[in-house]
Amino acid sequence: MGDHGKEEDNVPELSYLFKSTKLPDAHSSYAEARYVIFGVPFDGTSSFRRGSRLGPESVRYAYDNLESFDPYYGVNFPDVPITDLGNLEVGEDAAEVVDSVQLATSKIILDGKVPIMIGGEHSITTGAIRNLRDVSMIIIDAHSDFRESYMGNDHNHACVTRRSLEILGEGRIFSIGTRSVSKEEYESPEFHKVRFFSASMVRERGISSVIREIRNSIHGKVYISIDMDGIDPAYAPGVGTPEPYGLSDTDVKAVINTFARDAVGFDVLEFTPLYDNGNTSMLAAKLIQDFIGSRESRSYSADFWNQK
Ligand code: MN
Ligand code: MN
Repeated sequence: MGDHGKEEDNVPELSYLFKSTKLPDAHSSYAEARYVIFGVPFDGTSSFRRGSRLGPESVRYAYDNLESFDPYYGVNFPDVPITDLGNLEVGEDAAEVVDSVQLATSKIILDGKVPIMIGGEHSITTGAIRNLRDVSMIIIDAHSDFRESYMGNDHNHACVTRRSLEILGEGRIFSIGTRSVSKEEYESPEFHKVRFFSASMVRERGISSVIREIRNSIHGKVYISIDMDGIDPAYAPGVGTPEPYGLSDTDVKAVINTFARDAVGFDVLEFTPLYDNGNTSMLAAKLIQDFIGSRESRSYSADFWNQK
């Protein structure tokens, strides 16, 4: 996966002269990796602004600007066993893409590794969730994504929370940042089976209070799914379906800091470099570092200068 072309066509002594299409800190082999990154360049059901298929490449490009060491976590990322498989081969059919994601994440999870999926659009998350039982899910999203079906497709990106509920069951899904819900979704008898924390509630209560409530309701493992439009367009303008009055970047960082250690998988998706000023891809790259950093850190501190 990921590497195309024959081995004998490679020129190892020149490889340092050529830019890799892998995430810059992903130096490990698959066998040794603890984290397995892959892109899913699919935006076939996107309803408003397309381009999230270009998300994986834009994150790899943006990541190059980040330092490979983060003093907040005390983690040097090149020392962490991370591999990047490249991008999944995808066609036009959302159901097939979801099946491929299921296959890929199933293998990675069974091998005892943590999949980190870069979207692409939100529909692909269902593939990862299908492998999970007795796991809770934390979603960052402006949208409830609770449609039974949308534009004739039950794998539309507007249905992913609904599909996940069918798999994981009531009381296991926590969606933070919600502020766009259709009347139909809102009136659905199933709606209360997911705990939605609106963006305005987060502002009123503060993110730590919301995190505490979720912490008290989750026992065991979680899957974390970050739809970048959950974050305010001021921080993340390059998304397919932007919504005003969103979460702050550091709200989302706090959620990742709290739950990353319990995570069996992570994805970040729904951003498009076609509408970006560069900040959305940069933030997505940083959130991947935050996820790995939170897990790998022995102790992290905002006062890192005095911790030596
Ligand atoms: Mn979504
Ligand atoms: Mn969304």
